[in-house]
Amino acid sequence: MTGQTTGLDTTELNTGQTPRAEIGVIGGTGLYEFLTDAEEVQVETPYGDPSAPVTVGTVAGRSVAFVPRHGRSHQYPPHAIPYRANLWALRSLGVTQVLSPSAVGGLRPEVAPGDLVTPDQLVDRTWRRIPSYVERGATHVPLADPYCARIAKTYAAADPSVKTGGTLIVIEGPRFSTRAESIHHAAQGWTLVGMTGAPEAALARELRMCYAPLCLVTDMDAGAAEGEGVDEDDVYALFAENLERMRTVLADTIGSLPDPAGCSCSSWADGKQLAYDIP
Ligand SMILES: [Zn+2]
Repeated sequence: MTGQTTGLDTTELNTGQTPRAEIGVIGGTGLYEFLTDAEEVQVETPYGDPSAPVTVGTVAGRSVAFVPRHGRSHQYPPHAIPYRANLWALRSLGVTQVLSPSAVGGLRPEVAPGDLVTPDQLVDRTWRRIPSYVERGATHVPLADPYCARIAKTYAAADPSVKTGGTLIVIEGPRFSTRAESIHHAAQGWTLVGMTGAPEAALARELRMCYAPLCLVTDMDAGAAEGEGVDEDDVYALFAENLERMRTVLADTIGSLPDPAGCSCSSWADGKQLAYDIP
């Protein structure tokens, strides 16, 4: 990495050594406190700065790199998050497994506010984001199964109340769905609606990283519930109530994540010439 624009700026570090991490977490600002021995790393990427400096520390004896998805002061709305820089920054620190907690709406009666869900399918309805590192040539990344089954299994083992399976549809935001959109999404059989799960999953796959979401259902989406539709204050309140539980699931998951070696999240690219670099 030395001498490349993708290198780490080690001038910020006290130790003079660039910390490395095996596991990445992209999540809300409320998750900072679970890192011990935390150290801040400024990572430059060819795609600009990540949402914030990456914090590298230890959780359950494992080295973890944390990026607050929306920035330190929640300055990046979903459509303006530097997704490519965030994933690139984690990969350049050595990360090969990414946990992605987020808040979502529920679309169907299988889920209710307060549920933690790790879906197994994704529908990408975003349209203003750059969803790929491929800028010339052609690499067609397999995404039939968008999420790492090993990580999903580990979430469920960490907390048996975590629901597994279902489809997450990602909308552009930042506005919530109209009632008609919400009814349409539910009628397709889709389970959850969020604003940040794409392009994160595809970018992680391009960088050969295992990636799986851990979604907290904060509300039933506009068309799925009676009443006024989604209220932003309710979403934040429910998220705050469940933060501790989410932290516990994440920490327990981190402590027992299996070796990513040989996982199809990475092995799809074995022997292939990719049309982009991996840091
Ligand atoms: Zn995997």
